[in-house]
Amino acid sequence: MIMQGLFDTHCHLFMEPLSRDTGGVLERAFAVGVERLLVPAVSMDNWDACSELALLPGIGCALGIHPWWADDGVVLEELRTKLIETNASAIGEIGLDWKTEVPRQKQYTVFQKQLELASSMDLPVILHCRNAFDEMLELLKKHPVRGVIHAWSRDPHLMDRFIEAGLYISFGGVITRPGAKKACESARLVPSDRFVLETDSPSIGLSGVPSGKSEPGHVAEIAQAMAQIRGADLKDTQAAAWKNSIALFGDSS
Ligand SMILES: [Zn+2]
Repeated sequence: MIMQGLFDTHCHLFMEPLSRDTGGVLERAFAVGVERLLVPAVSMDNWDACSELALLPGIGCALGIHPWWADDGVVLEELRTKLIETNASAIGEIGLDWKTEVPRQKQYTVFQKQLELASSMDLPVILHCRNAFDEMLELLKKHPVRGVIHAWSRDPHLMDRFIEAGLYISFGGVITRPGAKKACESARLVPSDRFVLETDSPSIGLSGVPSGKSEPGHVAEIAQAMAQIRGADLKDTQAAAWKNSIALFGDSS
């Protein structure tokens, strides 16, 4: 039986150290069954790098302004043009992060503008959220969008509120750590038509892989952890993740 391919829905290939060895990183990923990768930008400075990576087979990109760079503001016309030019799969990563110094009002403005753009262009969003869950859910009520909340590490109750808002939940390296009880409980309970997988490489580590050292190929270990936590077949888990990722980001890479 042929295994369904893996889709790393969130990897920052343009960041060091991944950017120093793109060929090797991709070779190692393809060798373990990765077929698709989605590279989200974080600031305007890396829109071009993401677009260039998206020219490679199997790779798609998302463009947007991450809350850590919200101080830069966002010129919507520029973002819209770039999204069309590059045939981007999503707007991302965008969101709210109350753990940074960036003023909340700035974050709100930039996030809200990008949500509006996403609905006007009918593009999905890739959401980053730290300590701002209520505020984000409030905004999503005002601006309903398709999309995913990435690097989920919270409890199933909070997860359900995002699922009710119509979002997918993305699980990464955190669920390979047995100590991550809340994240693993969410991974166990997430409906099989609502999850996708990601590495957030190189930033987020796995059990046995330090933060800053992960790469897209590690999504194979995340799929294994997901299957184990859910008491499901690896084959079925990968097939579900694949189907959900394509439903969300399309089949155009
Ligand atoms: Zn990220």
